[in-house]
Amino acid sequence: METVGRFAPSPSGQMHLGNLLCALLAWLSVRSQGGRYILRIEDLDTGRCRPAYARQLEEDLRWLGLDWDEGGSLGGPHAPYEQSRRTGLYDAALDELRRRGLVYPCFCTRAQLHAASAPHREDGLTVYPGTCRRLTPEEIARRTASGRAPALRLRVPEEVISFTDCHMGPVREDLPSECGDFLLRRSDGLYAYQLAVVVDDAAMGVTEVVRGADLLSSTPRQLLLYRLLDLRPPVFRHFPLLLDSGGRRLSKRDGALGLEALRQRYAPAEIVGKLAFLAGQNPGGRARTPAELIASFDWDRVPKTDIRLPEGLF
Ligand code: GLU
Repeated sequence: METVGRFAPSPSGQMHLGNLLCALLAWLSVRSQGGRYILRIEDLDTGRCRPAYARQLEEDLRWLGLDWDEGGSLGGPHAPYEQSRRTGLYDAALDELRRRGLVYPCFCTRAQLHAASAPHREDGLTVYPGTCRRLTPEEIARRTASGRAPALRLRVPEEVISFTDCHMGPVREDLPSECGDFLLRRSDGLYAYQLAVVVDDAAMGVTEVVRGADLLSSTPRQLLLYRLLDLRPPVFRHFPLLLDSGGRRLSKRDGALGLEALRQRYAPAEIVGKLAFLAGQNPGGRARTPAELIASFDWDRVPKTDIRLPEGLF
């Protein structure tokens, strides 16, 4: 079976080292297996995403020497590739879950969610205490009539989800206690990442998901959705997070490590060579094009624990 991988950035700012590493690793993994690479624009959060950032990131990928077979402005058999234009597919998936009695409206406000003394997880997720799970049809009708649009949540079964990440190893999560009934659609009508990513990866025939370990804890929720929607899940390979030389997580706010600043200082092959070095693929860290790295690419050499940027590398 052909490997189909993807890079699925959110165009909410310029690319930073973490995104670049993701794009490169996903590309190398696919290209070393002779597979297809898809570029999907995850622009559901219309408040934060901008078409100009999406155009820029395509330009940046090309500048770095990363190509793709479908997606972005290239189009292809699974168009459209912008999530903001795929809501019909999410509507259909939601209807399917509804039909199975797995969706309920949630009228909780942000303040109420915060006040409910639910434990907060390391990744910032608040475990939903199930406040609206047992609302009667009369209560739902009354609250809907009072004008508050509800969010929609998935009725999470009493179940532990376990799977093996192909890079990070075994993962298990007790969904009810560690996550709770999670959002499928926000009260403002925006679909949740968890639902959209599952629907899209399945619809686009993605067989391999490569992404940062910050999304490892989302994977059990996604695997549950794959099952509930009768979809075939891909293989997952999460890679460790990049930390700055002080040991802090890199973020879009680190302007100096954003691609705009890096492009002023380095040639594309220099950036790729340094990223490949961080990913265990290019011991000396010298300039390399992505294509030069394909033949020797090996997941076994990609670190499994957080990668701290050596002082002075960039
Ligand atoms: N759109 C997500 C991000 O920008 C990535 C989603 C994924 O790879 O599953 O971080």
